[in-house]
Amino acid sequence: MIIKKVAVIGAGTMGAGIAGQVANAGVEVWLLDLPTEGNTNALAERGLERLKGSGQPGLMSKEVESLIHIGNTRDDFGQLADCDWIAEAVVERLDIKKDLYRRIDSVCHDQAIISSNTSTIPISLLVEDMPKSFRQRFAITHFFNPVRFMHLLELVRGEDTDPAVIKILASFCEQQLGKGVVPCLDTPGFLGNRVGVFAIQCALHAAFDLGLDPSEADALFGRPMGIPKTGVFGLYDLIGIDLMSDVVQSLVNILPEGDAFHQEAEKIPLMIRMIENGQTGNKQGKGFYRDSKNGREVLSLEDESYSFSPRLNLALAEKAEKKGVQVLLADNSIHGQFAWRVLSRTLSYAASLIPEVGNDGLGIDDAMKLGYNWVKGPFELIDEIGVDLFIERLKADDMPVPIFLKEAAGSSFYRVENGELQIRELGASWKKIPRAENIIRFNEMRQTMTPRNSCASASWYDLDGIALVEFHCKANALDAESMEILDDAITHAEQDGMRGLIVHNDAQHFSCGVNLQGVRGFIERNDMDGLDSFLNHFQKTVHRLAIAKFPVVVAPVGMSLGGGFEVVLHAKEVICHANSVMGLVESVVGVVPGGGGCKETLYRWVEKLDCSEDISEACWKAFMNLGMGKTASSPVLAKEQVMLRDNDHFMMNRDSLLAQAIDAINNPVNQVAFNRPPLTLPGKPLFEKMVKWLKESHEKGLFMAHDVIVGTEMARIVTGGDVEPGTIWSEQDFFDAERRSFLTLASTAATKIRIETMLDDGSPIRN
Ligand code: NAD
Repeated sequence: MIIKKVAVIGAGTMGAGIAGQVANAGVEVWLLDLPTEGNTNALAERGLERLKGSGQPGLMSKEVESLIHIGNTRDDFGQLADCDWIAEAVVERLDIKKDLYRRIDSVCHDQAIISSNTSTIPISLLVEDMPKSFRQRFAITHFFNPVRFMHLLELVRGEDTDPAVIKILASFCEQQLGKGVVPCLDTPGFLGNRVGVFAIQCALHAAFDLGLDPSEADALFGRPMGIPKTGVFGLYDLIGIDLMSDVVQSLVNILPEGDAFHQEAEKIPLMIRMIENGQTGNKQGKGFYRDSKNGREVLSLEDESYSFSPRLNLALAEKAEKKGVQVLLADNSIHGQFAWRVLSRTLSYAASLIPEVGNDGLGIDDAMKLGYNWVKGPFELIDEIGVDLFIERLKADDMPVPIFLKEAAGSSFYRVENGELQIRELGASWKKIPRAENIIRFNEMRQTMTPRNSCASASWYDLDGIALVEFHCKANALDAESMEILDDAITHAEQDGMRGLIVHNDAQHFSCGVNLQGVRGFIERNDMDGLDSFLNHFQKTVHRLAIAKFPVVVAPVGMSLGGGFEVVLHAKEVICHANSVMGLVESVVGVVPGGGGCKETLYRWVEKLDCSEDISEACWKAFMNLGMGKTASSPVLAKEQVMLRDNDHFMMNRDSLLAQAIDAINNPVNQVAFNRPPLTLPGKPLFEKMVKWLKESHEKGLFMAHDVIVGTEMARIVTGGDVEPGTIWSEQDFFDAERRSFLTLASTAATKIRIETMLDDGSPIRN
């Protein structure tokens, strides 16, 4: 069966999110909630409104909204009759869910698939009163919030669920909704929350017991362990201390008595008082952290006076972030003890769940990476530590060694054998990591390959005759070394007659831009020649992508900003993820795009408006895009702003980008030739008009003083500045103009302070 029409019941946080993602996939969906007095559809309407919210919009564009029909469960229940999938996402109450299933069964067609989004209720209870024909078509589809952005979907099979139903759901959710589907058994908390909440609780209690300040705990239970930098206290603040406490309580309610989770679930008196006082996190403006005049401050856990103090920096955490988790375990201080306590308990808890949750650790590792954004799953972390060392230390602490871990002694949980990545199964056997044909995670593929050239920032590989360049440093910030690797890959692709070149990585973000620390270094050394030559090399390298004789595909995920987006802009074809965010944000730090971004933005508007004679309108459009530092929060919106071209396309599942990119190289039907003829410039009159507009906007209070200076340089690049109208510039002239303006701005005190505050405080000063 093909899922052509969907109904979602319950238009709360999750239901609205699921309906939004179904619409993003181009599928018609009904979103129903309870009827209300007066405006009967008010609840479902509210769900849809929340979905459109500005922060992290659940819809990819305005157009997809027309695929969502709003209704209520009294007047519109008949709409379910021709729905192929009915996803229930109502409140977590067994009686309400059961009532609904009876009603659904009376209207839906006999092939329709029904699923629940429940986090805590086992399938056996949900469908205990339902006929077998219904139970066979029932599963749990456990999405994570926010649905559009969280990759993980736990797909839970009941005892009676027909495997064909699981296959249809898995395929729809993976291929069309873009989720990383992790098959789960019907065990409490499934995989992600079972291990994820355990780890969080473990870190929380360890911090209180060992007397660590929240910022110390978060510095350790964060990037050094490959965990998002929100850490544990930051996460409690983000989600809400009250809501997180409810999640913990729900796991306490469903996990069996002997489960180790109970030892980590005890309530902490300070947190009970914080909830009573309404000090529940970011929504209330304070929790464990607060923002003050002096920057971000952290709550003291020691006294009862709720005093805040500056955050502490931990040298150990910084070192471990660079060198890996071993550094934490080799440390004997209180911080090392904290790290060991969290890692030892969490990783051995994960191992102890085999075979209850499955015969291998792949589901747990996947769930933690896709649902909790861990860089490595628990079993990959044990491999990094070393199985034998881990076991030895558990024994030294008189901690139990789970059977699955014992079996791995002298070995590992993952291995590369016969060129394939394999995972250990209970009973000491191995299997190839099973992935659907078009799902390739480069971090897995990479383990079976040796790079042709590599440095700390980037590597390139030979993928059976296709050069693949991967950026892989912190935030994938681009520096001279990353551009050297890209340059080298292009040279070899040319020399060796390779079939094409792909730039891709499967980190959270493709690239957040040029390494600002490096730019700061040039400025501090007053080495403007060095900065110029870095920019020149950057420009030349991305230009080589555009004019290469072979197909070039850039396949970005997450954010492609600034210099990262300039790489994207020079691809002959872009295949990006549906949640990609892209844009040239250089104005924020007081510079102009200096790697071909201004030039490309102008040429794209010239092409779009088809105005090669008088390019004034294209100049204005480019000036606005650049000056506002616009970003597009989806590829659809990026196309509207000519950041992407018509031949560029997107995939719902980030893990299918690489397979699609390889296809596109082998069958290069979408490659666009860069036609960048000399342009006739509007010159001085338009330049002066733009500068006047900038000054007036500043006088109206719309822009800061330095915005006018930065905007002036952007106007200068796109119009030619003081040149006579009719002057002709080549593509190289625009490159040169970008570099001149970049250097001019880099010499100003105001830009310097924007860059410094961005690097030191995480956001630039507005000056
Ligand atoms: P919510 O409280 O935001 O929304 C629930 C919605 O269900 C409300 O709009 C309510 O009016 C509606 N509703 C209640 N009874 C109904 C009925 N009989 N018919 C139609 N609509 C009805 O809840 P939520 O956070 O969206 O959670 C929904 C489900 O998803 C729950 O089972 C929850 O356990 C699960 N879940 C939640 C999250 C999360 O982060 N919030 C994550 C994963 C799973």
